[in-house]
Amino acid sequence: MSDRDSICVIKGIGEKTAALYAKLGIYTVSDLINYYPRDYEEYGKAELIGTKQEGHISTFEGFVYTVPVTKSVNGKKILIANIKDETGSIQLIWFNMPYLYSKVKYGNIIIVRGKITRSAGRLMMTQPELLTREEYLMRVGKIFPVYPLTKGITNNAVRRAVENAMDAADEPKDWYTAAFRKRYELMSLGNALKKVHFPKDREEMLTARKRIVFDEFFAFSLGIRALRGDSSRRRSYYTFTKDTEYKKMLSGLKFELTGAQKRALSEITDDMRKPVAMNRLVQGDVGCGKTVVAALALMFTVENGYQGALMVPTQVLAAQHFRSLSSMFEGSGVRIELLTSKTPAAKKREIKKSLKEGETDIVIGTHALLSDNVEFKDAALVITDEQHRFGVHQREKMMFKGNDPHVLVLSATPIPRTLALILYGDLDISIIDELPSDRIPVKNAVVDESYRPKAYAFIREQIKQGRQAMIICPMVEPNEELDIENVTEYAIKLKNIYKDEISFEILHGKMKDSKKDEIMERFSKGETDLLISTTVIEVGINVPNATVMMIENSERFGLSQLHQLRGRVGRGAYQSYCIFMMGHESEKARERLEILSKSNDGFEISSKDLKLRGPGELFGIAQSGETTFGMADPYADAETLKLAAEAAMGLSKEEYSTMMKCPALNDRIVKIAGNVVL
Ligand code: ADP
Ligand code: MG
Repeated sequence: MSDRDSICVIKGIGEKTAALYAKLGIYTVSDLINYYPRDYEEYGKAELIGTKQEGHISTFEGFVYTVPVTKSVNGKKILIANIKDETGSIQLIWFNMPYLYSKVKYGNIIIVRGKITRSAGRLMMTQPELLTREEYLMRVGKIFPVYPLTKGITNNAVRRAVENAMDAADEPKDWYTAAFRKRYELMSLGNALKKVHFPKDREEMLTARKRIVFDEFFAFSLGIRALRGDSSRRRSYYTFTKDTEYKKMLSGLKFELTGAQKRALSEITDDMRKPVAMNRLVQGDVGCGKTVVAALALMFTVENGYQGALMVPTQVLAAQHFRSLSSMFEGSGVRIELLTSKTPAAKKREIKKSLKEGETDIVIGTHALLSDNVEFKDAALVITDEQHRFGVHQREKMMFKGNDPHVLVLSATPIPRTLALILYGDLDISIIDELPSDRIPVKNAVVDESYRPKAYAFIREQIKQGRQAMIICPMVEPNEELDIENVTEYAIKLKNIYKDEISFEILHGKMKDSKKDEIMERFSKGETDLLISTTVIEVGINVPNATVMMIENSERFGLSQLHQLRGRVGRGAYQSYCIFMMGHESEKARERLEILSKSNDGFEISSKDLKLRGPGELFGIAQSGETTFGMADPYADAETLKLAAEAAMGLSKEEYSTMMKCPALNDRIVKIAGNVVL
């Protein structure tokens, strides 16, 4: 079997199942083998029922002390049983599992594993795993992979499929030499793949994981090296001498720029005056005011007789920037146009023509701008906002549109400088590490589920006052294996709570882009009160009227990501609130979330996050389509990132070209750096 074969060659996978796997992005044997667990489960020894509280995942061995009840409700087959040991009792409920009826019988001793919840004062487990004594003995003290799933595929099914694929596929060829592996203390590829799925213990899992993570960063770095090519600087043919209009705009602003904004601007304008093309990243926390910096750089460009372009990831964001720039440039005589997929064809043609002829000075747009038929007369500055949403390729492509224009990249991803230097090796960096002084800091609360009714009442209250709110859930759809909030069911739940009092919509990554845009736009305009969304909620979107952000299962997210989400509120004149809801309460989760509660500084948060989340703790939820690394985390694995980047950049020309010729490694480079998040 070749690892490029369709997964249908694997025992037990037919066309129907293959279609489900396709939803997870798994098409080939290799995809499956490289589908890493998102977490691991360790099977502890059976515990005493009386010693455990709700919220824990526990294994109990107990005696079925009442006759189990089986019934059918709304077509669902329900089994209810009670077990006890010498310390306490617990109720168990299973849905649609009639084959358990013969196993869960009065008088039997059974072993179950699941999350303990409480309902009407009683401890219970819903849908616990039922283990035979053999299964229990086989698993206790061991570690098991937990995969990201989709409806219709169980964790066990993935586990088995991976096992079968591993058995049948040839041992993968390692692309490193033995000496290289020794130097960086890396397991062989074949071994690492085996152990990352089926480790004997935690230690083995971490060693395997290190190899996989190293590979991802290595491929990423090679991708960057390839893109950068000969990294000599591009010459700039533009001359920047005038700055009257620029200064006029600066002094006409409604506010005084922060020191950090001023610093970034002088770095930018200094760059632009040089005969070398600028390649600069402006990194600044959400709300620090990057847009005005972009606007001033554009004014500087136009004043000196050239055109500028501002690219953003979505149509909504483009429209938003268009509005705010139009007002900043009002009365200046500068012509600004908006070009997105929504622009009518005739208008598009007209804008393109005027860009080519140099009548339009500034164009703001989405990827539509990237289509090869947009030409400029003389574009001297290309800005991309929220850069982490674009791929490197896209950036490069845009770069060559003009006559080697200056390139400015704006990003809100707060990464520590050392990391940024590696990740964005080819860019100079300006950091805006200061927020405007008039910001009302967001009030935070870290709460558990008992707070829910209060939270809903609070949201209702805010909406009654005319404000808007957002609720984030980690998942799109319910998942049988994971007890995590999802937008689909959440919407139903809220409908029951708020009836018709509040208008809301759901938003998630599985929707078409045009649909997402429409929903965001309605929210942006204040037509919907509440948005229930996954983390796709628009990066960079400015809805000053939104004052409440509630994040469900916040324990599952990285701190930096939570901080980004929180950045969607606190942007207006109203006091804003962020509620971090813990679905699974734990001391550790609370401690982590309290960091957010105490700080609103993205840089501080990301560096604390880095310290707190040791490897093994860092498997966050995979966000559909947004993660480029399967396993690596640039924050928590910073040390490995540094090593891998140095290894990749330090390869001699010969070593480099040998590596680039390895097909399996090349696949990875395309996968990781092809649509890399920079
Ligand atoms: P981001 O850096 O996240 O893109 P924006 O550019 O959207 O932030 O700025 C957020 C808000 O802050 C905008 O309404 C903007 O007008 C305002 N703003 C920017 N700079 C300042 C400043 N120096 N003082 C006060 N308000 C500012
Ligand atoms: Mg912005």
